[in-house]
Amino acid sequence: MDVSPKYEFSWNLIGDLQAGRPNLGRLTRLEVYRLMQFTLRDVIEKKYGSEAVDHIFHEAGKLAGKEFYNHVLGHIDDFNTLMMKLQDALLEMSIGILRLEKADLESGQIILTIAEDLDCSGLPELSHEVCTYDEGFIAGVLEQFSGFQFEVKEIDCWCTGDRTCRFKAQRVG
Ligand SMILES: [Zn+2]
Repeated sequence: MDVSPKYEFSWNLIGDLQAGRPNLGRLTRLEVYRLMQFTLRDVIEKKYGSEAVDHIFHEAGKLAGKEFYNHVLGHIDDFNTLMMKLQDALLEMSIGILRLEKADLESGQIILTIAEDLDCSGLPELSHEVCTYDEGFIAGVLEQFSGFQFEVKEIDCWCTGDRTCRFKAQRVG
């Protein structure tokens, strides 16, 4: 019996966009991305609960961050170059406007902000932060770069009344 996973991620799943979308190209509208994200959250929450949604989105974001590091950013040796390249890539791909607010490499604490964030900017105000995928994404990038584990928590979000998302990353272990 074949027990290999059906949906294991590989960068090949991004596909050959040149061949596959000769007329439409690589861009789509943001509504489509949000439609997919927030319907997925709804369905997963109804079936497995809100904690499970957050956990799944965080883990998926982390996997995305690691793959993004490997396939978009490429191997980087120092932290400043990492931040510069990440900032450029997020801007170029219209994901968000990244700023490094604080980096204490000794204690492993990093604070980043992302303005005009793909996931949440412009959403109605909610009682909670929503950027769990981004938390995972940032952790994945930092982990792949450094080889250390990171815990990343969103501390301000458009959805909690702020105009920029703020993330606190802490190296653990
Ligand atoms: Zn947010």
